[in-house]
Amino acid sequence: MAILDLKYYGASVLTRPAKPIKNIDRELIKLAEDMLESMYHYHGVGLAAPQVGVSKRFIIVDCGDEYQDRPYFLINPEVVSTEGEQIGPEGCLSLPDLLTDVKRPAKAVIRAMNLQGKTITVTGEGLLARALLHEIDHLNGVLFTELVEDEFVLQREIPILKDRIQKILSGELPAVSEYEEDEEDEEDQVEMAEPESAVALA
Ligand SMILES: [Zn+2]
Repeated sequence: MAILDLKYYGASVLTRPAKPIKNIDRELIKLAEDMLESMYHYHGVGLAAPQVGVSKRFIIVDCGDEYQDRPYFLINPEVVSTEGEQIGPEGCLSLPDLLTDVKRPAKAVIRAMNLQGKTITVTGEGLLARALLHEIDHLNGVLFTELVEDEFVLQREIPILKDRIQKILSGELPAVSEYEEDEEDEEDQVEMAEPESAVALA
């Protein structure tokens, strides 16, 4: 297994639709293994193939112990239905350290193929719904910034984000988010250090 380099905001692979997968071959199995290791390495709860530069419709999601059957390996995932609404903090490994409120359905039913070639249905609520929909958006070339309703947040945060990405690419900043460590130093931001916020990265 290998840790794969992430593609960041501004990379063209993140803004174009990914191609459907036709065969479950050794190349895909290897990609799945490497993506899983990479997702844990970067402290994400989800990862889509375009985020590691592979424009294929494949995602991985693992939202932690309270969700069964994890991690999910989903080939050609499709949204069957959604229900309700939730607003909460969302982040993306491709947009390091940008965390902002995003409105999503509270529940989502996803149909996909697993690595064994079997069609499966995954019903996600809360964080799992958010992560599944976030990853499927990646396959359609959509970033969560497109769903942020507060224009002011984006105007303020995007230049900071671009600067941070440049520093990561030049090696000035580590690729693994120091989000949790940073928060420990800031007593007035204790609430932000809660796992629900920190693990929303996908
Ligand atoms: Zn993402």
